Amino acid sequence: MVKTDVVIIGAGLLGCFTARNLMRYNIDVTVLEQEGDVCRGISRANTGIIYPGYDNKPGTLKSKLCVKANREFDRLCSDLGVAFSRPGSIMVGYGPEADSVIRKKYKQGKENGVPGIKLLSGYEAEAIEPMLAKGITSALYSESTGTVDPWDLCIAAYENARNNGAKFVFNNAVTDIRREEPEEGVKTSGGFVVSTSCEAWNAKVVINAAGLYADRVREMTEKPLARIFPKAADYMILDRPSPGDTGRCVEHIVFHETEDGKGLTIVPTVDGSLLLGPTRRQLPDDEMVDHSFRTEDDGIRNLEDLCDEIVPGLDLSKRIRTFGSLRPRPYYVSMQDGEFIRSDEKISDVSILEENGMLSLFGIRTPGMTIADELGRIVADRAAEIVGRTDLNEGFDPHRDPIIRARDLSPEERAEIISRDPEYGDVICFCMDVTKAEIRQAIERGANDIEAVKRRTGAGLGKCQGSRCFKRINDMLANEKCPDKGH
Ligand SMILES: Cc1cc2nc3c(=O)[nH]c(=O)nc-3n(C[C@H](O)[C@H](O)[C@H](O)COP(=O)(O)OP(=O)(O)OC[C@H]3O[C@@H](n4cnc5c(N)ncnc54)[C@H](O)[C@@H]3O)c2cc1C
Repeated sequence: MVKTDVVIIGAGLLGCFTARNLMRYNIDVTVLEQEGDVCRGISRANTGIIYPGYDNKPGTLKSKLCVKANREFDRLCSDLGVAFSRPGSIMVGYGPEADSVIRKKYKQGKENGVPGIKLLSGYEAEAIEPMLAKGITSALYSESTGTVDPWDLCIAAYENARNNGAKFVFNNAVTDIRREEPEEGVKTSGGFVVSTSCEAWNAKVVINAAGLYADRVREMTEKPLARIFPKAADYMILDRPSPGDTGRCVEHIVFHETEDGKGLTIVPTVDGSLLLGPTRRQLPDDEMVDHSFRTEDDGIRNLEDLCDEIVPGLDLSKRIRTFGSLRPRPYYVSMQDGEFIRSDEKISDVSILEENGMLSLFGIRTPGMTIADELGRIVADRAAEIVGRTDLNEGFDPHRDPIIRARDLSPEERAEIISRDPEYGDVICFCMDVTKAEIRQAIERGANDIEAVKRRTGAGLGKCQGSRCFKRINDMLANEKCPDKGH
């Protein structure tokens, strides 16, 4: 049995940021992940928005964390070497119901202390975003709304936590958690034995950051309280503008507000593409076990219809990819005849359930990515208290160097880097302009399959979706695994 202070279950955004924050203390941390890499759960497919904080009810933990996190995001991304932009956002309404939601959000934003928000008339909104359908009746502008690539952020948090000493164990699904009896006279939890099919860990604290499966993981030691009933979402990505194109159709992040929350969101992403979505697609309750990230034709058609309605001039033939996602909606449940009965009551604020040494992050939804570092810090501070080691790790380094991307360099900088590392002159992915040097570094940092290389470099994410570069990347991966074979 391996001894560790804290086991974190799940290496999504919340698990990785909690691990990173725990490394501020002198604590031994092990992260157990069932998949072969980080960011393969909910975190892999989201809208990439760093929210300003006007959507959340004043006074809630969610609203406080969101406003604070947004303010801190430039520093966080600069520490972690993550590309971050603040195009600002415009929430547009077409009609009285949407107008009243917009006014409510403006009021909430003011109460929450969100900087740089203002109400606009329809004419003002149309002047700012002329490609949007005419007839806007009101809009809410926010200058602090930003966007990041969720993979980039999650991988950066993981690498930084790992560089500071956190251990990550992949391909290990936690199958059992057993509480150890506390020693006589000791009031605190006796710790846990956390098992996977390969190994067992003895930990003082367990942090359950298992995303869609947080309910099942919690029930390994506790009675059922709430269950996660996912709702599906569909997205579409349009290619980056080609040279000569006039622009990306919108300059700001656009939220199309509707009474039922089923409007369109448009995000000009940090890599230059355009993200459209998410839809809201109901899943039957019995699909809650089959957590798949597929899209459905109905969902994509719904997205196309929304685009036609809200941005009629948008060229959907530039679509390069669609993908699905799952929203983890947590409802309280009761048991009847061995079956879970879902109540109408949803857990809507950020909830950290603390149960005798186990901290569960239960059904954290939007803006979970925005607040991942802030929330991770709260959970880490509490775990350090329970472990009883709150002395700070003087050696903690919050910085992480990113892989330098050839496509971000000027011609002069590119020539200079090629002179130092000739593999920067060998382009492997032509659509996204990714070189052999970047792919090599991704593999050196632990990427061990195509998907992991793609997420770390962007190779294969362009128009041809990898048909021209995956063969060479596979050869590099194979060569890394069996260098003697000389692939
Ligand atoms: C459609 C959608 C759009 C969103 N858009 C935004 C946005 O624009 N901005 C924003 O701020 N937030 C957004 N969010 C919210 C944000 O993406 C989530 O809050 C966040 O990704 C949740 O991360 P997580 O670490 O809790 O979960 P996950 O990423 O799912 O991580 C949990 C991990 O636990 C692992 N795991 C599960 N069970 C086990 C087990 N038994 N053993 C070992 N490992 C296990 C899983 O494999 C997974 O890797 C969005 C969410 C959705 C669904």
